[in-house]
Amino acid sequence: MVLDDLGSSLRGTLDTLRGKSRISEEDVDEVVKEIQRSLLQADVDVSLVMDLSDSIKERALEEEPPGGTSARDHVLRIVYEELVGLVGDSTTIPLEEQTIMLAGLQGSGKTTTAAKMAWWFSKKGLRPAVIQTDTFRPGAYDQAEQMAERAEVEFYGDPDSDDPVQIAREGLEATADADVHIVDTAGRHALEDDLIAEIEEIEATVDPDRSLLVLDAAIGQGAKDQAQQFDESVGIDGVAITKLDGTAKGGGALTAVDETGSTIAFLGTGETVQDIERFEPDSFISRLLG
Ligand code: GDP
Repeated sequence: MVLDDLGSSLRGTLDTLRGKSRISEEDVDEVVKEIQRSLLQADVDVSLVMDLSDSIKERALEEEPPGGTSARDHVLRIVYEELVGLVGDSTTIPLEEQTIMLAGLQGSGKTTTAAKMAWWFSKKGLRPAVIQTDTFRPGAYDQAEQMAERAEVEFYGDPDSDDPVQIAREGLEATADADVHIVDTAGRHALEDDLIAEIEEIEATVDPDRSLLVLDAAIGQGAKDQAQQFDESVGIDGVAITKLDGTAKGGGALTAVDETGSTIAFLGTGETVQDIERFEPDSFISRLLG
């Protein structure tokens, strides 16, 4: 990671270590304080920030810098390694035949993300299909159909049906020629029992290779309960963070990553089908600290 990617105040603090061969506890405290400030502002959970702070302090003071390494570079390397540990690696998404199910609350960005992911897979040379099982939210069918059209991918839904499980089953059959099936599910305004029961049934029917939890970047502490519930009911393999084009930095989603023992797969950065990125630890760290 280049120093330019760090927040400017953190960069400034690290620069005060320039020329020092030994590092004091006060020096490390200053650096850790800057990191804490940025991460808390980015909605990263307090306990995750505290664990990270402890690790940085311990390592910076106890590990011997390799010969010839300045105090500043030593601390920078530890800070970087710990931040990479915090945000995790990118979820493995093999470019092969697979079924991916999306889970999340209403408004989190599932339908948009389904179309974006389909677009992403099509650009990788695969043949994706979006299956829309959201019979709960009015307009979900039309929205999904339009977005799939814009993404130029196959689409299946049934605006006249109120049975998401049947739509899922028929959708897989109707799009059997496709090699990546992306199954969009209905959300609710909150975690309700019928939502969980419904997604469990869909999961049992489509038997996804991976299930991704879709979270709005602005999610704060709410991420924990959602992650726990969805992970218990269908098992979460990865997270997609949406709306990163706004002011929110998505740090709250790290709680979901921690809670589910998963990683981040995709980032949503706008409302059109092309506004999707694969998660990269370095650029996400820059975003968090910036
Ligand atoms: P769902 O209820 O989970 O299916 O959510 P939708 O996909 O309908 O998204 C809810 C709203 O968020 C819609 O107005 C989307 O256009 C918007 N949205 C989704 N992803 C993004 C994103 O990455 N950036 C922005 N700016 N808006 C998004």
